[in-house]
Amino acid sequence: MTAPHTGGCRCGAVRFEASAEPHHISYCHCGDCRRASGAPVSAFVGFMADQVALNGKSLKSYRNGPVERSFCGICGSPIAYTDQRLDNRIYFMLGAMDMPAYFRPTVHAHVREQLPFLHMPDALPRELKTSVSRPEEQRPSETQS
Ligand SMILES: [Zn+2]
Ligand SMILES: [Zn+2]
Repeated sequence: MTAPHTGGCRCGAVRFEASAEPHHISYCHCGDCRRASGAPVSAFVGFMADQVALNGKSLKSYRNGPVERSFCGICGSPIAYTDQRLDNRIYFMLGAMDMPAYFRPTVHAHVREQLPFLHMPDALPRELKTSVSRPEEQRPSETQS
């Protein structure tokens, strides 16, 4: 399967289309994604934002520090997140893609926060924290070790 890649929310009010291949596909085990999704682990498909068309008046967003998460204001489906430190990148929830089976994750991020009963027996690399390096600017609680 090749681009365009499409997706949307559960009720169909929000739709998006990416005109190129993703640059990043990962699982995230962090607590912030867990809260936002309600699921024990999240997965994301990252595209260049200028290669994405996102439609839907019902799209709402919630900002927490540099991270902004969007969701459908009608059905509540989580859609994507952006990070101010990652210019021109947008990360869609893998489950929002129309063909989710096509987007096989290549890495687990934030495994330090992985739930102890969650076992995912694959050979993918595990990152203790983020799998995408951000420029400097770390919150005090996230001092590099
Ligand atoms: Zn919706
Ligand atoms: Zn996360």
